[in-house]
Amino acid sequence: MTAIDGKVIAITGASSGIGEATARLLAERGAAVVLGARRTHRLDELAQDIRDRGGRAITCATDVTRREDLDRLVGRAVAEFGRLDVLVSNAGISKIGPMTDLDVDGWSAMIDVNLRGVLHGIAAALPVFRRQGRGHLVTTVSTSGLKIVPHQAVYAGTKNAVRTLLEGLRQESTDGVLRTTAISPGYVRTELADSIDNAQVREQIRRNMDELAIDPEAVARVVAFAIEQPDDVEIGEVTIRPATQG
Ligand code: NDP
Repeated sequence: MTAIDGKVIAITGASSGIGEATARLLAERGAAVVLGARRTHRLDELAQDIRDRGGRAITCATDVTRREDLDRLVGRAVAEFGRLDVLVSNAGISKIGPMTDLDVDGWSAMIDVNLRGVLHGIAAALPVFRRQGRGHLVTTVSTSGLKIVPHQAVYAGTKNAVRTLLEGLRQESTDGVLRTTAISPGYVRTELADSIDNAQVREQIRRNMDELAIDPEAVARVVAFAIEQPDDVEIGEVTIRPATQG
């Protein structure tokens, strides 16, 4: 029996990378997981695999840019498992490139997924958390918000905005109902570079990932660590990066 055993945990961006690894680990440790993303075939395969290993998992087609999708994801958790203990707002895209590309559509897409998507999750989960008297919001932000580097200004901006709104939420939640955790990974070996439209930047990031990235399971272990703390202990901010990343 672990502190994760029996918890109901919804995860956005569960169809690959960090979200998938997190779903597998939390399910292995006894959580009922509710998997959200757009690629439902990937979610279905993952849920089946978790169930085949004796875990509990359901899926819910979720586009985080749509508020109603987050309402449905949270609603599925409550309908199937009776409550929602944790929302892991992990979905994200990285349409990075030089500002001079003026990729306004890419900028908007990052704001819609990385920032608005988290806000939609908060709007869906907060009423449930308050009704239950308890809840935990975990988000995947980024070390690129902590060390600003070329080509990542807007991406870093969305991640820092999430960090800011989580701190504001924390300040308003000192009654003990809500715990908030912002996890900042460095390079992690996932499909994230696929969302980069600028070919030169995409290849550079892929090279960096090949050379120094850590596995998504490492981030999953940090998510689990934050969740398994006693209710009166909040892991606020964590950075996790390759030991060789500058
Ligand atoms: P992946 O590309 O493997 O995973 C991204 C996930 O987000 C996918 O499951 C994707 O699912 C989902 N997603 C994208 N757009 C939407 C949307 N509109 N609605 C719902 N889900 C969406 O990359 P990672 O696992 O690396 O990314 C996970 C998080 O970690 C992101 O927030 C990313 O910014 C952050 N991060 C990653 C780092 C890295 O080096 N990999 C470093 C720092 C932070 P689908 O396409 O099926 O909807």
